[in-house]
Amino acid sequence: MAKYVVCADEALIGNNLEKIENAAIVVAEDKIADVGTQDELIKKYPKAELLMLGKVCLMPGMIDSHTHTSMDARVPGHLDRMNDPAPELTVRAVNYVKDDLMSGITTARVLGDKEYVDVTVRNAIREGGLTGPRLVVAGIGMRSIHGHGFVGVPHTGVQEFRHTARENMLHRTEWLKVFITAGAPPVNGTHIPSFLSYEEIETVCGEAKRMGIRTSAHCIGGQGLRDAVKAGIDVIDHAYCATIEDLELIKEKERWICLTPSVFMSKERNLNNPPATQKNTDIVRKKVTAVMQKIVTSGVKYAIGSDALHASMALEAECAVKLGAAPKEAVMGITVHGAELCGVERITGSLTLGFSADMIAVKGNPVEDISALNEVSFIMKEGIIYKK
Ligand SMILES: [Zn+2]
Repeated sequence: MAKYVVCADEALIGNNLEKIENAAIVVAEDKIADVGTQDELIKKYPKAELLMLGKVCLMPGMIDSHTHTSMDARVPGHLDRMNDPAPELTVRAVNYVKDDLMSGITTARVLGDKEYVDVTVRNAIREGGLTGPRLVVAGIGMRSIHGHGFVGVPHTGVQEFRHTARENMLHRTEWLKVFITAGAPPVNGTHIPSFLSYEEIETVCGEAKRMGIRTSAHCIGGQGLRDAVKAGIDVIDHAYCATIEDLELIKEKERWICLTPSVFMSKERNLNNPPATQKNTDIVRKKVTAVMQKIVTSGVKYAIGSDALHASMALEAECAVKLGAAPKEAVMGITVHGAELCGVERITGSLTLGFSADMIAVKGNPVEDISALNEVSFIMKEGIIYKK
């Protein structure tokens, strides 16, 4: 039975974010049961509770396509704090996912957390014991013993990667995550080291494929990127050094890039990094920005993630627009395309009949002015109202 008729001056509906005026969305249980105009739907559902939201724009809940539940880039020293004991990481995660949902993020993809904190938090949210977005998770992020990955766990050799891949899947992770390259471009020289062998990457991809789940790689470029695409990695995260040829390859093989723009574009965020990282980030910022500009204008499939800058998807979308993305593309990157990248495109990501009732209201149409995303006045996830 219809529970709510949610009414707003405007709404962005369907997977093309088509604008309708005097919009009404009908919610029954946890799903969108009807989409149309107020004139038609208020009469059609007389018993449902009317929510007149007024001069706002209804849109799908935001999707963060790359985060970590127990790390928060809003906090100084957050990278070192990843070595804290699991109970501390878990308590933090509980707070961070709540912040996410209360900012309008209704779905997030978690790309590695220690001690299966992400699995614990995902399950608790699912069971209704915790407030947070719908999570899809990768469990233990697999990095090399000599490579990058603050949230990852060191591995070496095909057998170790296979073991963790299977253990992750035992915890019903929706993703497997590997860390192939360094975090940022080289400051001196041009060589981009790849810490994983082709066989190690291929092993993880093979394990995932047989179980029907997807793979994601922390990968900035170089041989690691080419190996990742060849081995079957579904999503290249960051791609800060991708060349034109790399982008063509990713396009041709129909893989995704998960763009994480604020890591380099937000100077404020950089202040929370260790001093050496701050300095290096300043040095390569221009170079990385130029690559990200190419990504958003190249026609490659991309969605947007915060990489653990919680509750900040409005900022990430604004960064994408600064890089040259049309505001509509940026909004797609945190909604429709985010759902596709995360693998939840059949249940969420747009205001579509039969989809999960995940929606927010913002002060104005973000397709016309992206800054509208900063003022979220209404939040619903799976038919439950979290902010009104
Ligand atoms: Zn990350």
